[in-house]
This record gives sequence, C-alpha cells and structure tokens, in this order.
Amino acid sequence: MSTRVRFAPSPTGMLHIGGARSALFNWLYAKHTGGKFILRIEDTDAARNTQEAVDVILRGFKWLGLDWDEGPEIGGPCGPYYQSQRTDIYKKAVQQLKDAGHAYDFEGAVKFKIPKRKIVVPDLVIGDVEFDYTVENDLVIVRSDGSPVFHLVNVIDDMEMKITHVIRGEEHLSNTPKHLALFEALGAEPPRYAHIPIILNSDGSKMSKRDERPEFARWASLQTYIDDGYAPEALRNYLCLLGWSPKDDREILEMEEVCRLFDLPGIVRHNARFSAEKLQWINGRYLMAMSKERFYEMGKPFLMKADLVSDSTPEAYIHEVLAIVQEKVKLFSDLPAWTSYFFKDDLVFDPEALNKTLTAPNAKSRLEELTAKYEALPVWTAESLEAGLKEAASENGLKTKDYVHPCRVSVSGKSVGPSLYHMLQVLGKDRVLTRLKAFISRF
Ligand code: GLU
Repeated sequence: MSTRVRFAPSPTGMLHIGGARSALFNWLYAKHTGGKFILRIEDTDAARNTQEAVDVILRGFKWLGLDWDEGPEIGGPCGPYYQSQRTDIYKKAVQQLKDAGHAYDFEGAVKFKIPKRKIVVPDLVIGDVEFDYTVENDLVIVRSDGSPVFHLVNVIDDMEMKITHVIRGEEHLSNTPKHLALFEALGAEPPRYAHIPIILNSDGSKMSKRDERPEFARWASLQTYIDDGYAPEALRNYLCLLGWSPKDDREILEMEEVCRLFDLPGIVRHNARFSAEKLQWINGRYLMAMSKERFYEMGKPFLMKADLVSDSTPEAYIHEVLAIVQEKVKLFSDLPAWTSYFFKDDLVFDPEALNKTLTAPNAKSRLEELTAKYEALPVWTAESLEAGLKEAASENGLKTKDYVHPCRVSVSGKSVGPSLYHMLQVLGKDRVLTRLKAFISRF
C-alpha cells in the first residue's frame, strides 16, 4: 500500500514554525516513499477561521516549496479538504458509533464510550507509550451546539483519507490513545503514528507566539523568516535538521538528498533547540551559493521596500550592485544597509569611521593624491582602480591601506563593505570623483 501522509493545520492566522517543520517531515516522507502528501484544513472552529487565515498557510507552503498532492486549490479523490465542508461525513460516522453502541446522547451532546483499559500507542519515534484509561471519562465528540470536536473529525478524516502515517508534533501524543480508541470503534485500521520532538527556544523554553519576550515570540511564526529575508531553501534545510539527522555532521544538504535519506527512524527523540545563529549561518551559505539571477529576484523586493530602487532604476545597475555584495550578506533584509550608498547620494556616515578619517594624519592629502590618479584613469575597472591606488601609494612611499580606508569612507560612509575596487567600479567614475571631492572639502 502506498504511503499517504497529511498535514492538518487549524487556520489560526499564522503558520507556526513547528507546524511548518511537521509539514516538511510529512512532505519528505511522502517523497521518500513515493507516496502522497495531503493538505487538510481543520477549520471546524467557525469563529476563528477565515479565508485570510487559510491563505497564510497556503502562502507559507508555497514559499517553502511544499507542494501537496491533494488538498485546497487542487482537490483530490478524498475531498473536500476543508473540515467545514465535511459535516455530513461526520454526522454519518457519529450515527454509526451510536448504532454500534460506542456513543450516546448526553445533555444535548454526544459522548464516546472510552474503553476503560490500558491503551498502548506504538509510536515509530518514541516506541510504545502506555496510557492508563481505566478511570478515564467518556469523551464528548459532538458539543451540545452540534459541532464535532477535534478528536472526532481528526480521526474520521484520517480514516476517510486513508492516511497511513500520522507524523505530528509530540504535543499531540496524549491525544493519540483517544484516537486509537475511536479508530477501533469505527472498525478501521489506525495509521502508524510518529510524534516528533517539539522545537524549543535556545534557552530551552517552549517556542510560542505568545511568549512575552518579543525576540522569542517572533521566531514562532513562519512570516518572520519571510520578512527577515531568509531564503526558503535555507530555512527548509535548517528545519530538516531540527529533529532529524542524516547521521553525520553535515549541515548543508540538498533537498533531493534529504528526500532520499529521510526516514522515520532517523527522527531524533530529544527536543530540538532552535538556533538563530545556525540558521543565519546556513542562510549565508545559501545566499553565497545562489545564482546571481535568483539573488537578484529575491533581493530586489527588499531594496524596493526600503525605497532604494524603483521600477525606473536601471536593472543592470542593480544587478552589478547585488553581485558584489552577494557573498557578504547573511539575510536579504540586510541588503539596504549594505547597499544604500549605491542608490542614494546623501551618504549617511558612520560617526566613528567619519571621525577617524577626518582626524587621520594626512588623510586629506591621500585623498587628493588618489583623486588626481583616478581623474586621470583612462579606463574605470576594478583592475585599473587597484593599479591606480597602488601607484599613488608607492609614489608617496605609503601603504595601500593609507588610501583604502579614507577612500572607502569618502565614497560609502562606512568602514566595511564589499571589495573596494569593485565597489568603485560599480559606483562609476562620476559618482566616485564627486564624493571624493565633497569629502576633501570637509577637512
Ligand atoms: N489541527 C491539528 C493541529 O493543528 C492537527 C493535529 C494533527 O496533525 O493530527 O494541531
């Protein structure tokens, strides 16, 4: 029987990073086994669920590159894939439970007779986990207002959608004995369960959007990573490592390889700790290795948002700028800080760099010597700019750094940046000379 796995989010208005990781693990398992990945929207809470909240999930999936084989927008043989549209299916199942004596009416609600015994959850990650249900209360499966509860609809849909493996966060483990009991009462074979360890903050606390510390709360939502300018392939790579390991120490992994290697026994049992530093490092690696074209496509919106470029900015110029900072940038949201002086002439000087340059002995003469050299350059390339600067240094018996630092500060306002000669080449002769002269007049 081929594998059928699903991700079944309740639309709350955000996609939790732990949810995104569960979705990814299901997706990987489907790819690994050649099975199907189903997306089902658990939107029975009518008060909370809105189309916008569903769209947040669908957008998040698309951004992360998680395509689904059945679900919203594409349908499939077991639809509809919104629980809010499956009311009749649930009604029939409740009747079936009642007819078989497994459920009964209670003060307007319907209760399921919990089997009063020990129930073992044979978990593929954690192993057998025993729950003592000998004194467990019966379970409300339909509220007195007629609405079915999560446990019921979750089980019915997993049954109807022929789900073979439920891979979900460990916070659901305590629900699973109830789910197994419901499967049994419905006369259906339950899926295999794999509960994956939850993601903790770096300090060991639970990752939650309700964390009172904003710097922690923000990591809980996928939107943060989109806004901060992570590359989806980098986040996906990092999420793979949060609770699964390729069994060696590699951290940069091609998705194709992960699909090949990913298996449930490879899921680690201990909780996974989130490390923003590690993720940023991985992101930097992906940004560095990315094609120039993709870097441009992903980077340009961040420059647009910062009002540094517009649709009328020459594309070739943006390309040149991005190409020389690509290996320096760790996040796309850092791009405006790295590149603003390429697009704006009113430079913002780093106060320390400015002060250091203005007070450096003979910096003014250095800049005058360099300006003269650059004015006379017949060609304006990184090579000729480097040669010109070195010439100025040797003619005056000085080191190249005596020219490099004041020049960088004069034209960019900063003490760090991409390779100076490439930066000057891209800025162009006019801009560079104008900025050098303007800076000289500040002494
Ligand atoms: N709607 C549930 C949730 O979002 C689904 C749990 C499950 O995967 O079974 O937590």
